[in-house]
Amino acid sequence: MDNSLSLLRRGLDALRLTVPDGGPERLTAWSAELLKWNEKVNLTAITRPEEVVDKHLLDSLAVVPEVAGARHLLDLGAGAGLPGVPLLVALPDLQATLVDAVAKKVAFIKVGGVKAGVAARLKAVHARAEGSPGTEGLPVVDLVIARAFMDVGRFTRLAVKYLSPGGRVVAMVGQVPAASELDDAASAAGLEVGSVRRFTLPLSGDPRGVVVFHVKHP
Ligand code: SAH
Repeated sequence: MDNSLSLLRRGLDALRLTVPDGGPERLTAWSAELLKWNEKVNLTAITRPEEVVDKHLLDSLAVVPEVAGARHLLDLGAGAGLPGVPLLVALPDLQATLVDAVAKKVAFIKVGGVKAGVAARLKAVHARAEGSPGTEGLPVVDLVIARAFMDVGRFTRLAVKYLSPGGRVVAMVGQVPAASELDDAASAAGLEVGSVRRFTLPLSGDPRGVVVFHVKHP
């Protein structure tokens, strides 16, 4: 057995984040299921339970400040369900649609959503997102997010196709691109850079970043 639950609690304290009662237990149940599936189906390159806590759960939860207040989140290229599933656990009023082009990943998103106790607020879609929400079965939402999906410029141009007026696009990155690249990514999509925040993962200290883009006001 591992000490995922105590590590997760320690990480949440470091992030100064509270999640609803039972949330940490549901997240570690999700992690255990992920690693179980991962023995047969390739869902993640991360296989140590402590690393799943740090690099998957806590990294996803670290962007709660950027996501809070959104009603419906669309997670593009969600893979095993990241960051969408941990965010649903942390934010009980959030609805989310998670999409991935690989069927076995979508199958896990659904099973993981049940383990995490968020299935009622989660829709998992097997599709390749190419910017046509209607034909892809994808919604238009107030927040589009992705982690480890594509470079920021391609992501913003794709994400705006799914964005309702006044919405925002959140890019989770390992390394924050130069300001000029962010400005280009914003303007190519009719967006402007709202905020840039650098942080470190609570357990490993690895650097991460989160960039928020807003619809540009005329
Ligand atoms: N967001 C997850 C997975 C990142 S890997 C995480 O952070 O762990 C990128 C994922 O995007 C892969 O699972 C891949 O299948 C998916 N993907 C790539 N292009 C896509 C597209 N156009 N539409 C949907 N999924 C896509």
